[in-house]
Amino acid sequence: MKIIDLSIPIKNKAMEPQSSTIKYVGYKLGALLLGLEGLTYKGKPLKTFWNYLLFLLGVKKVSAGDFPDGLGLSWDNIKTMSHRGTHVDAPSHYGPTCEGKKAKTCSELPLEWFFSDGVLLDMGHKGKKEIITLNDIKDELKAIDYRIKPYDIVLIRTGMDKFWDHDNYLLDSPGLAPEGVEWIINQGVKVIGIDSYSLDLPASVMVNSYLRDRNKQHLWPTHMLGRKYEYCHIEKLANLDKLPARKGFTVCSFPVHIENASAGWCRTVAIFN
Ligand SMILES: [Zn+2]
Repeated sequence: MKIIDLSIPIKNKAMEPQSSTIKYVGYKLGALLLGLEGLTYKGKPLKTFWNYLLFLLGVKKVSAGDFPDGLGLSWDNIKTMSHRGTHVDAPSHYGPTCEGKKAKTCSELPLEWFFSDGVLLDMGHKGKKEIITLNDIKDELKAIDYRIKPYDIVLIRTGMDKFWDHDNYLLDSPGLAPEGVEWIINQGVKVIGIDSYSLDLPASVMVNSYLRDRNKQHLWPTHMLGRKYEYCHIEKLANLDKLPARKGFTVCSFPVHIENASAGWCRTVAIFN
C-alpha cells in the first residue's frame, strides 16, 4: 500500500488573508504551565486565572528541572480559522440552507463521503484565471476512460499548489465553471477537491467582474451552488502531480470535528494498493 499526502500545513503567518499564528510552547515553559495545571483547591482543578495568581503569590511550583532530562512537555497555541490549510468546506459555509433544509455543519457531515474512490482530473494545461469548463471535464474523463459514479471523490489538479504561500496563489488560479460542477454533482458526487485556494476564480477576478456589471452570478458561483445541492469542497490540496494514476485509488479526507463549524481541517491522502 502506498499513501500520498495531498495536504498543505497550517503555517505561521502564511500570506493568506486572516493568516494563522502559531505560538510554540517549549519544554521549559511547558513544565511550568503543567505544574500550574496540577494545582488544586479542595480537590478541584484551578482554572488558569487562579493558577497564575497562586504562581504570582509564590506558591510552590514545578519547573523544568523537576522533569526527567530537565524538560517538560511542549505544545502549540494556534490562532487560525477553519478555512486555513487543507480543509473541507461544509454546506453551512455556502449558506444557511441547502436543498431547502438547514445546511449541514462540519459536525453533521456523513464520514462515508470522505473515504471513497478517487478520480483525478488534470487541468494543469489551463492558464491563469482561466475557466475550467464542462467540456474540459468531459474531455479529461474521456482521456482517462472513466465514468464518474456516486460518491466518487473528484480531485481537480491545477498545479497552483506549487505557488502556495506566494501572492499569485491568491491571484492567478483557474476556476471551475458552475455548469461543470453541477454536472459532477449530478453524477452523485458529494466531495470535489482542488489544489488551489478555491473551486472559484480568484476573489479579485470575481469582485472586479461584479463591479463591472453588478451581476451576482460572478460572486463565488461554485460556492453558491452549494445552496442548491448538498456537497463539499476540499480546498488547498497539494501533490496531485505525484499520483501514479488518475483512477483506481482511494481518497481519505476526514474533516476535524469543530463543533458546528463551516469547515474542518483535513490531512487528505490518496491510497494506492
Ligand atoms: Zn474553505
